[in-house]
Amino acid sequence: MGTGQIAIDNPGNLSSAKGAGSAVDSIDGVTPAQAPAASYVGRFAPSPTGPLHFGSLVTAVASYVDARAAGGQWLLRIEDVDTTRCTVAAEREIMAQLAGFGFEHDGAIVFQRERAALYEDALQRLQLAGRLYACRCTRSRLALAPRNADGETIYPGTCRELNLPIDERTDVGVHLKRDDQAPLASEASRHVALRFRVADASDPGADVRAQIEWHDRCFGAQHQSVACDVGDFVLRRADGLFAYQLAVVVDDAAQGVSDVVRGADLLGNTARQILLQRHLGLPQPRYLHVPLVRNTDGQKLSKQTNAAAIHVDGALVTLQAAWRYLGQRAIDHAPDVAAFWRAAIGAWSPDAIRMDGGN
Ligand code: GLU
Repeated sequence: MGTGQIAIDNPGNLSSAKGAGSAVDSIDGVTPAQAPAASYVGRFAPSPTGPLHFGSLVTAVASYVDARAAGGQWLLRIEDVDTTRCTVAAEREIMAQLAGFGFEHDGAIVFQRERAALYEDALQRLQLAGRLYACRCTRSRLALAPRNADGETIYPGTCRELNLPIDERTDVGVHLKRDDQAPLASEASRHVALRFRVADASDPGADVRAQIEWHDRCFGAQHQSVACDVGDFVLRRADGLFAYQLAVVVDDAAQGVSDVVRGADLLGNTARQILLQRHLGLPQPRYLHVPLVRNTDGQKLSKQTNAAAIHVDGALVTLQAAWRYLGQRAIDHAPDVAAFWRAAIGAWSPDAIRMDGGN
């Protein structure tokens, strides 16, 4: 296993990964769904919308130690598919933070912004299978649609049977209020969104609820009816960007990820990702969702709640706090970060993670 240091001085100049990385054909050379992983491949997949905070560190520590304790690889993927929210400054800062905290990733760093061809290929396969349709609904048109427990709109299927052309570009100026501040060019070239047809009468066993059952290593048995709780979801947005749900499924498979360890804010996204894996014939990884860290007001730490960036200066103390948050037995004797990691990898006990994060 070739272990690489985080490349902090060259973040934007790494092409698609070799080795553990991005085999385009691995999506086609598929393992049957749910085949047991031959060996452990984990990943950390931050979105560079801001620096890492304590909550992201907790997730990174869990994914890193879980991979290393299993003798596995740990990949780093920059999830910058939403180019409207991501910045190169945040990307550089995240890489510097990871390096300063002693994380060592395997293989080349993968950047989603360089992988449009893979996402397009997956979309085409879904289209050929009759699972895609174009949608013209605007956010304001969906404002009154019902919402699920996570506050997400449950798509009511407005455009499902309209057979709108997939490649249609909408002159949204006709439909939307004009905003004089917005660049006209992007208005004139707005796409229709593409949605995934979650359930179909011809589905195996005619599972029109698209019921997904799966096991989470921390949260246990999970189930969700994707048709009832989410509805047909977007895979390519109206602004032409690929949606996270599509990119994450394609990338996890292309990178051979066997184990997804990530924050519990994504627990509710997992069923739709498993559904997509099944329709694309991709293997289903194991999942471990790490309890969210909340601030004193009970809000999830995030850029929106002004969570403070973690500082390399106090790396050892901050790592020890993240370790305790994960319910692990204290590692107080470690003199430095390298010693902390050695002890942590030897002592890792994922069963000790408490669903409420010890609160
Ligand atoms: N990019 C996501 C985030 O930063 C993580 C996605 C994932 O791990 O599946 O929250």
